Amino acid sequence: MTLQELLVEEIKDLYHAEKQLIKALPKMAKAATHEDLREAFESHLEETREQVTRLEEVFAALDEKVKAKTCEGMAGIIEEGNQLMQEDAEASVMDAGLIAAAQRVEHYEIGSYGTCVAWARLLGLTEVANLLDQTLEEEKAADEKLSAIAESEINQAAANEGREENEDEEEETERGGSSSGRTMSRASGNGRGNRRQSSTTNRPRAKAADRRKR
Ligand code: FE
Ligand code: ZN
Ligand code: FE
Repeated sequence: MTLQELLVEEIKDLYHAEKQLIKALPKMAKAATHEDLREAFESHLEETREQVTRLEEVFAALDEKVKAKTCEGMAGIIEEGNQLMQEDAEASVMDAGLIAAAQRVEHYEIGSYGTCVAWARLLGLTEVANLLDQTLEEEKAADEKLSAIAESEINQAAANEGREENEDEEEETERGGSSSGRTMSRASGNGRGNRRQSSTTNRPRAKAADRRKR
């Protein structure tokens, strides 16, 4: 196998990876609560569609038929994301997890496109290298945008979520387990915190789980 043949195999792998993402990103957008995050997923979906078209141009430039080869790596990353989305988590915690999943996707792509650009340049395939490099830059930008969104608000909100939960439980114990009339500081913003009207007492943990049911 020559390096150019290996390059073609990697392109087929990327083609399948991007195709899988076109299916996964709408689900991630739906699972996201924070507006900026949802928008980031939606705009990266549009970008991903263009990246698929760009890969078709790469196949043409290589005089190869457009063909996908199962990308197990991306399948695994997406599967982990699906598992996350089935978890019962407060909105900001889920958002933080979605960002982590999405960044693993971007890093996988960056690794793969980065290699393909370098090989294409070495092989003198300038057009191929330029096309792949455009996508590489988009993936890097998507990754940085996700970091910025995480750092601007979501990670901190997710960290506070745990803290508030603990404070509540302490409060509850002090007051002998009365759960009526509690106010919820965390209800603001995400619309999912407002489920605390539990009638049972003295079982803060069970109630904490209860509250999260949707
Ligand atoms: Fe991509
Ligand atoms: Zn792969
Ligand atoms: Fe991407």
